[in-house]
Amino acid sequence: MLDKHNLELKVWLSEGVQVRKQPINTLTYRHLPQLAAKKEKEVVPIPHEKWAYEVVRKAADKKISDGGCTFNNPLPIIFCQFVHPGHGITPPATKIEGKLTRACLIHQRVNDDKVTLIHEMGHAVEAIGDSHSPDRGNYMHEAEPRSFMYRFQVERMARAMYAVG
Ligand SMILES: [Zn+2]
Repeated sequence: MLDKHNLELKVWLSEGVQVRKQPINTLTYRHLPQLAAKKEKEVVPIPHEKWAYEVVRKAADKKISDGGCTFNNPLPIIFCQFVHPGHGITPPATKIEGKLTRACLIHQRVNDDKVTLIHEMGHAVEAIGDSHSPDRGNYMHEAEPRSFMYRFQVERMARAMYAVG
């Protein structure tokens, strides 16, 4: 979908199209003690609460800067489990003080149209925010399948704080 509109996805730590999970880009409960489980091996999905989103954002930012990312305004994409229903969420609370972008939380459960990531990146575009498209098939519609972007949406994405060039 991005290719069609000449939008390139520049991914930190990518090797070709693959981003390997490695210590430098992986958060554990050691980085998120506030969210840690009481019992060993128990998984605690990220609660749908402002404080939790702030904790996750701060931990992700630290990973990104410790890892030496040189992007001016990276858009953090965090693959994780969360309480909020759906495949992804880009909470306003992840735009913590001093940051120009929100962060996208993406569930490991892949959806069929594989548009979740781009959809959530849309919510991180300031001119889009929490709004959705009423048009079926559009990438900012809530329901699958989604397969296209409008020109004005492409332009908005190109002007987002996380966009370059
Ligand atoms: Zn949405």
